[in-house]
Amino acid sequence: MDEKKKIILTGDRPTGKLHLGHYVGSLKNRVSLQNQYDQYILIADMQALTDNAGNPQKVRDNILEVALDYLASGISPKKTNICIQSMIPELAELTMYYMNLVSVSRLERNPTIKEELKLRKFGEGAVPVGFLTYPISQAADITAFGASLVPVGEDQLPMLEQTREIVRKFNQTYKRNVLVEPQALVPEISRLPGIDGKAKMSKSLGNAIYLADEPDVIRKKVMSMYTDPNHLRVQDPGNVENNPVFMYLDAFGTDKDKIAEMKEHYRRGGLGDVVVKKYLNEILQEVLEPIRIRRKEFEKYKPEVYKILELGTKNARQLASKTLANVKSAMGIDYAQSLFDESKKIRKWKIVIQKTKS
Ligand code: ATP
Ligand code: MG
Repeated sequence: MDEKKKIILTGDRPTGKLHLGHYVGSLKNRVSLQNQYDQYILIADMQALTDNAGNPQKVRDNILEVALDYLASGISPKKTNICIQSMIPELAELTMYYMNLVSVSRLERNPTIKEELKLRKFGEGAVPVGFLTYPISQAADITAFGASLVPVGEDQLPMLEQTREIVRKFNQTYKRNVLVEPQALVPEISRLPGIDGKAKMSKSLGNAIYLADEPDVIRKKVMSMYTDPNHLRVQDPGNVENNPVFMYLDAFGTDKDKIAEMKEHYRRGGLGDVVVKKYLNEILQEVLEPIRIRRKEFEKYKPEVYKILELGTKNARQLASKTLANVKSAMGIDYAQSLFDESKKIRKWKIVIQKTKS
């Protein structure tokens, strides 16, 4: 008998095209794991609106861009369900129920939320409730599909911890093991810095190399990358730790001996940034060329891409509605339906209605 496959859930906010950070942090794992697992990938448009409420057009336009990035990276619609969050209302419903299991101060203590609040600059007293509570909606996304594995970048670990807490609280409170506690799968390079040296490459920070970037754009971005600010002259000894150029080499280079040699040379002094950057450019061009070519091919077949999203969303919704039914039953709030069912058996109600009418 076929053993039931375990489930993977991941997602991306359609706030821009996908970049190298997504690729090393999560996409690569998704591509390789889709053969062994049942995989759901959520285009998290509702979550994207939590800090883009005034710009739904941006979110809407990027749904297709993100879908194209998936397909170009090797996500196969035959193995993976790609779905759109706002088309699965069960997720919002689950979020409402989970909200009662989490305190406001717990959300405010979430390290990712704290970090993102600093970057987002909503202003004093103006943090949208939706933004503060998005970890809860993420817990709804993960649990709706019964995911046991979530391949993510390191910035998502606090979200996974929050989800696990919600799962435990739910199962304890309602005394049924309805929800699955997920594990994070974090790669070795779990947070790719931006080309500006900022801690994280991010769509919202404008410091990314995108999977769709053209060769000359990639080259320009690489050549302008932040390196060790104290490595002023070629002969100066340089720092390879926290130096984005070397971090990218570690993430994408395959010739580990050559990279180790370059690091040693850079530390000693005598290796210029331009030489290292040129080598990095060669490597990134090789990684990105096949993705860019496939992406252009898929771009010619947009109606097919929409169809893929429609089918993926349909499958995802079926699974999410099963989980929602189990959740409501565990909480004992499927009573309304049973009351309605009961009322069908009673004949006298006809008289009551007739009386009230007259
Ligand atoms: P935004 O700035 O809109 O939040 P983002 O670039 O942070 O966009 P998300 O859609 O929030 O991208 O993240 C999707 C997935 O990609 C998550 O699993 C996240 O951990 C991973 N990821 C994003 N950026 C990086 C990065 N720089 N390094 C490693 N993983 C990353
Ligand atoms: Mg993010």
